[in-house]
Amino acid sequence: MKCTRCKSKAIVALPSHNAGFCKQCFLKYFENQVQKAIKSKAMFTQDDKILIAISGGKDSLALALQLKSLGYNITGLHVDLDIPNSSEHVREIVKKFCQTFSIPLFIISLKKENLSIPKVKQTLSRPICSACGQIKRYYFNRFALEHGFQVLATGHNLDDEVARLFANTLRWDETYLGSQGPVLKEENGFAKKVKPLYRLTEFETAVFCFLHNINYSTKPCPYSKGASFTFYKKLLDDLEYHQPGRKFNFYETFLKKGKRGFQLLRKSKLTLNSCQKCNYPTTETICGVCRIKKIISSNN
Ligand code: SF4
Ligand code: ZN
Repeated sequence: MKCTRCKSKAIVALPSHNAGFCKQCFLKYFENQVQKAIKSKAMFTQDDKILIAISGGKDSLALALQLKSLGYNITGLHVDLDIPNSSEHVREIVKKFCQTFSIPLFIISLKKENLSIPKVKQTLSRPICSACGQIKRYYFNRFALEHGFQVLATGHNLDDEVARLFANTLRWDETYLGSQGPVLKEENGFAKKVKPLYRLTEFETAVFCFLHNINYSTKPCPYSKGASFTFYKKLLDDLEYHQPGRKFNFYETFLKKGKRGFQLLRKSKLTLNSCQKCNYPTTETICGVCRIKKIISSNN
């Protein structure tokens, strides 16, 4: 197969684009997709201070390196979950990566916050991934606002976004459908959030990391087994295999045609208050993270 751009030997095939690329042209394609996402959705500019949520997986590291090489003003934030046989290894990968590419890095330790994930899992009866996601979002948002960042960028890719859209659609969850998208505007108590990799697949970020020789964490979180997201991704991969381009089309069509109605519904239903403990937004009187903290400390 020949490279679609320069006609030399292709090393990667992208059926959804009906294209194949050599190393240099693939990296150019990747850069173009990121630039297109940033510009077409007005995510940020060269003047903005950007905080990147760095988990240590391929997506967040690929995002950080791509934005750094485009000259954006980026800082990394890693939330250390304190999961045995996992978090320490991931933290070292993130530290080494940021050191290598001269990216300033901050680390929040959930152990220090008395919210270590194994402890949360042991104490709460709800699924751990929903609590873990809520805690991570809370700290990323809070750090961005308290340290003057204009925007918080995450490494969510097309596969993540389509699996989330599929899950939200299965439940017809109007609150989540109304807020799903590559850009979440700044609201009272919420930093602006963006997903510059939303046009690229998991496979493409893996190829990017491979071509840049980036060491990323490949060990799945020990609590990830049986997560419904993994199952949805497999289903959607099957669909994509039979109908290349279907994932992106499903997502883009939702943004163009479906989202607006859910946005209006969400607005009419959602009332935000300030948490009585920490002042961050909540639909209750005390926010989810402060409630988790309270349950844990009363169990100590
Ligand atoms: Fe947290 Fe692990 Fe669940 Fe991911 S898989 S949300 S890291 S508990
Ligand atoms: Zn709170």
